[in-house]
Amino acid sequence: MVNVLENKLCTPRKRPPHLAEKGLWNKPTCINNVETLANVAMIVEHGASWFRSVGTEKSPGTKIFSVVGSVERGGLIEVSLGLSLGEVTGKIAGAKDPKAVQIGGPSGVILPIKLSDLEVSFEGLDDVGGMIGSGGLVVISQTQCVVDTAFFLIDFSAKQSCKRCKVCRDGLSESVAILKGMTAGQGSEDDIEKLKYWANLSKTQAFCGLGRTAFNPITSSLMFFADEFKAHSEGRCPSLVCRSLVSYEIIFDRCQGERCCLLTCPGNAIRGSYGKPGHIVSRLCQKCGMCVTTCPYSAVKKISPAV
Ligand code: SF4
Ligand code: SF4
Ligand code: SF4
Repeated sequence: MVNVLENKLCTPRKRPPHLAEKGLWNKPTCINNVETLANVAMIVEHGASWFRSVGTEKSPGTKIFSVVGSVERGGLIEVSLGLSLGEVTGKIAGAKDPKAVQIGGPSGVILPIKLSDLEVSFEGLDDVGGMIGSGGLVVISQTQCVVDTAFFLIDFSAKQSCKRCKVCRDGLSESVAILKGMTAGQGSEDDIEKLKYWANLSKTQAFCGLGRTAFNPITSSLMFFADEFKAHSEGRCPSLVCRSLVSYEIIFDRCQGERCCLLTCPGNAIRGSYGKPGHIVSRLCQKCGMCVTTCPYSAVKKISPAV
């Protein structure tokens, strides 16, 4: 930010010297977000013990989260630090059919909903390798794919990288390629090891915080959702999300042969005679899902075949 104000290339600075000593135009500079500055004003007005009356010993006060995803009540929420993940996502945000929570912004961890007792505080998240970060909180539903979500987040971070150091630049771009391949049915056995390799390297060797934290969605989801990664490396998407890994099938016993699906299929992929069960020619199927919604007998199912 300081570099931009000085009309320089937008890359991280080496520290020390810290900005508080030598910042904008080499003058001591204080850069904090609005939330922090707003707290300072309140602490000056009411005192430190008032601020500490909520929160935990190491994480006093409140935190604003931006809640999105599969929730009934999305938006900005301000909560006391130290509440449980379940209280924040369930009681306050009204999570719907949750599978996981991604917390801390694009560089945050992806945690399974079974960790609902986890304390939402700096130390609580630190225990699972996470961080509160920008306060982003995304509730991921059972119908969403964790590998696809990790791909989205890593792709975002890859675009944010200034590409100055090799581990961040190459690690992120290679991880994007790997995850893209996994979600497109081109995964291979050593994908998971390659992802771990870049994540470990960047965490310890990247020059700035972006590179050191950008792999958090990968490391956490590999830890908690290893089965989903394994399935993708074998060409399956258990959540039936990744388009290349799903197909459609007519259930023989349920199909009444009324042919409504034939009329709406954009790929002319459904074959059958009136009154008899039809079948789908997979090479013509465009995977639009129209047949599933059209069929009045729920006779079409979406599958991700086992290899
Ligand atoms: S870690 Fe990434 S964002 Fe940070 S300096 Fe290196 S390349 Fe740039
Ligand atoms: S709409 Fe349903 S019942 Fe009718 S032919 Fe298609 S799959 Fe069979
Ligand atoms: S998914 Fe779409 S393209 Fe494929 S069979 Fe159904 S309607 Fe046709």
